Amino acid sequence: MSDNSTDFTITGHWINGRTVPATGQPIPVTNPATGLVIATAPGGTPADVDAAVAVARAALAGWAATTPQHRASLITDLAAQLTTRAEEIARAVTAEIGAPISLARAAQAGLPPMVAMTTAGIAGEIAWEKEIGNSLVVREPVGVVGAITPWNFPLQQIMTKLAPALLAGNTLVLKPAELAPLTAGILAAAVAAAGIPDGVFNVVYGTGPIVGEAIAAHPGVDMVTFTGSTAVGKRISVLAAEKVKRVALELGGKSASVVLDDADLELAVGKTAETAFVNSGQVCGAWTRMIVPVSRQAEITRLLAAVAQEFTLGDPSDEATRVGPLASERQWQRVNGYIERGIAEGATLVTGGPGRVPGFETGAYIRPTVFADVDPGAAIAQEEIFGPVLCVIPYEDEEDAVRIANDSIYGLTGAVFGEPEHALAVARRLQTGQVDVNGAPFNPLAPFGGYKQSGNGREFGHLGVEEFTEVKAIQR
Ligand code: NAD
Repeated sequence: MSDNSTDFTITGHWINGRTVPATGQPIPVTNPATGLVIATAPGGTPADVDAAVAVARAALAGWAATTPQHRASLITDLAAQLTTRAEEIARAVTAEIGAPISLARAAQAGLPPMVAMTTAGIAGEIAWEKEIGNSLVVREPVGVVGAITPWNFPLQQIMTKLAPALLAGNTLVLKPAELAPLTAGILAAAVAAAGIPDGVFNVVYGTGPIVGEAIAAHPGVDMVTFTGSTAVGKRISVLAAEKVKRVALELGGKSASVVLDDADLELAVGKTAETAFVNSGQVCGAWTRMIVPVSRQAEITRLLAAVAQEFTLGDPSDEATRVGPLASERQWQRVNGYIERGIAEGATLVTGGPGRVPGFETGAYIRPTVFADVDPGAAIAQEEIFGPVLCVIPYEDEEDAVRIANDSIYGLTGAVFGEPEHALAVARRLQTGQVDVNGAPFNPLAPFGGYKQSGNGREFGHLGVEEFTEVKAIQR
C-alpha cells in the first residue's frame, strides 16, 4: 500500500455488516506531508444516519441479551483481528494525519487492541448486578450509542468508546473524523471477522455539521459519546438535550506540568517535552504549560532548548522521524497563528518559531516551539493550540504555582515533579481528571476524563464501562 495511490479509498458506509453506498458527495482525504489527495471517503447524509440507526436499533435486543462474558470473548477476538492488521492501520494513520510511522505502529496501531483486551479483561469485575438492602440493582445497556470521534488518534479514540459500549451490551453508530476516516474501514472489517453480529457496529462517514449533528439529534440514538473540541461538545450537548439523551464528552485541554523546587529537572523537562511534542503536539492530554520556579526558569529553559533539538522533523514514513507534519493545512494555519501571537504578546521565543520549515515547504510542518516568560493570562497560555508549542510560566511560590495551574477553563490531565510525597500533596490540589507524579506510566485501567470544560465523562477501566450503562433498582 503506497500513500500516493488511491488504495485507501472507502467505497461506502458500513451498515448491517456490509458496505452501503453513501447518498452525499465523497470527501477527499489529504496526506499532510505532501498535500496530495490519497483517498476519498463517503459523504453521509441524515438519510444515511436514519438507515444506520434503524439497523443498530434492530440489533439491540439480541446483542443486549448475550452475556458480558460472551461479549468479552468477541472483543478479545476483535483485538486479535486488529493485531493482524496492525501494519495496515499504522500506514493508514501515517498517510492521513502524518503521524511518524514508528509512533503509528506503537500507539496508533498498538493501543487499540490493548484497550480492547483490558476492557474485555474486566468483564468479570463489573458489578452487573448488586444487592443494596432489599434492592437488586442491575446495570443494563443504554441502547443505541452514537459515537463521534476526532482525528488525532483516530482508531484509539474509537476503541475507547467501542470496547466498553459493546461490553455493556449497546449497539453503535460511529461517525469518524472526516480528516482521518481510513482506520474506521479497517476496523469494520475486523469487527466482521471477529464474529460480532451484523448491525451491532455501524459506520456512517461524513462531516460534523451534517452527519455528526444528525446523530446527536436523532430520536433513535439513546446516548452520544463524543471526543473532540470543547466548542463542538457544547453544540452536541444542546442537540442531545431535546431528547434528554445521555452525553459523554471528552474535550480539549491545556494541562499543566508543575515543577516543584525539589524536582529532578532533567526528568521534568524530558517528560514534559515528550507529551508536548509527540504526535506534533496534537494530543488532548499534552502538558502544554510548564509551571516552574522563577529561580530555576533559566536552567529549565536551557535544558528544554537542548531536548527540543532531539525532536527532529522528517518524512513520517521514515522510521527515524520523531515529528511529522501537523494533520492538515488548516491545523498549520492555526498553530502558526498562535506562535506569531505568542511573539506579539511578548513571550520569549526559546526555540522553534513560526513559518514554513526549509526543506519541508510542501507539507504542514511546523517546528517544535518553546516559549518562556509566558504571562499566565496570555492567549498562548489559556487557549488550546493543539500543536507542538510549550509555554514555560514562572511562579514565585507554591501557592502561586497551584493558582496558575488551576487558572484554566480546562482540566484534563497534568503532572507534578518533586519529592514524591510533596508532589502527591500538590497533585491533590490540581483541578484536573488525571495527574502523573514524576512521569508515572500510563495506566489503561485508570479513569480518563475532564474537569470543567474538558468534559463530563470518564473513559477506560470500570468507570469507562459503567458510563455506557443504565442503572435499574428492583425492590423485593
Ligand atoms: P472537532 O471537535 O473539530 O471534531 C471532532 C469530531 O466532531 C469530528 O468527527 C467532527 O466531524 C465532529 N463534528 C464537528 N462539528 C460537529 C457538529 N457541529 N456536530 C457534531 N459533530 C461535529 O475536533 P478535532 O479537531 O477532530 O479534534 C481536536 C480536538 O479534540 C481538540 O480540542 C482535542 O483536545 C480534542 N480531543 C480530546 C480528547 C479527550 O480525550 N479529551 C482526545 C482527543 C482529542
